[in-house]
Amino acid sequence: MTTPMNTAPRIEVHLLQVGHCRHPEWITLRGGRWSAAEFPSLSALLIHPSRGALLYDTGYATHFDAATRPFPERLYRWITPVQLAPEHTLAQQLARRGIALSDIVRVLISHLHADHVAGLRDLPRARFTALRAEIAQLARLGRLRALTHALLPALLPEDFAERLDYADDAPLRELGPLWSPFAHGFDLFGDGSLVAVPLPGHSSAQMGLLLRDQHDRPVLLAADACWSARAWREQRMPSLLARPLMHDWHAYRATLAGLLAVAQRQPDLLIVPSHCGATLTGFAPAAHGIAA
Ligand SMILES: [Zn+2]
Repeated sequence: MTTPMNTAPRIEVHLLQVGHCRHPEWITLRGGRWSAAEFPSLSALLIHPSRGALLYDTGYATHFDAATRPFPERLYRWITPVQLAPEHTLAQQLARRGIALSDIVRVLISHLHADHVAGLRDLPRARFTALRAEIAQLARLGRLRALTHALLPALLPEDFAERLDYADDAPLRELGPLWSPFAHGFDLFGDGSLVAVPLPGHSSAQMGLLLRDQHDRPVLLAADACWSARAWREQRMPSLLARPLMHDWHAYRATLAGLLAVAQRQPDLLIVPSHCGATLTGFAPAAHGIAA
């Protein structure tokens, strides 16, 4: 791979399904089934050899219930019924791996949709990293418009701004022709281990993450650049009903095409969307390090 990652520290990756919601499949995948399907919500636990335990997104948390109790936010939970069993909470899944919520040193936020940031309030010591334009939109949107963009500002800790670092301030790296059309990324720790890659279209400034895992596999955590592996493999867009949720429909389509292009050039690349059950269950468990 012509990226800074060739000699970079490897990242131990554990994919956690932290709650799920239910939707008819056809909303997320044109031509999909009419019956309701389960969409797991991903939080990726990332163990950096010297930086410690990080998360890429948090999945759902009980704060989602509180934030969607009043109107008009209550509409969100009606449209998107969410389930989070106690054994699936971030706290319990981390505890089973010997990690406390207070051990998480940083959350890399793909984007601000509620199902990706609902657990931030549970992480007392974590700093946060996101792309600047993703955060800037919050100040522009009123309560109602935020809701129509799946944003629930009440989920963010009061000191969110003080704990926030912008990915854009990290060293810029050219990714090279293998990664076209994704031209550049931000080398978050300056060691090539975690490279933030803009994946435009879905939200204001969605942040994907490139890394090599403990099995030396190249991994692209792709958040909601697509909602399933079938979507990027078969180039199937969501229903037009999902269009109002998208920041830029045409950019979303270009990003979806980009995922297929990079996968065709790199057959060993693992593309991990945040809500694809098949991808999450097919991802090999950690072979060493902390207990499963
Ligand atoms: Zn989203």
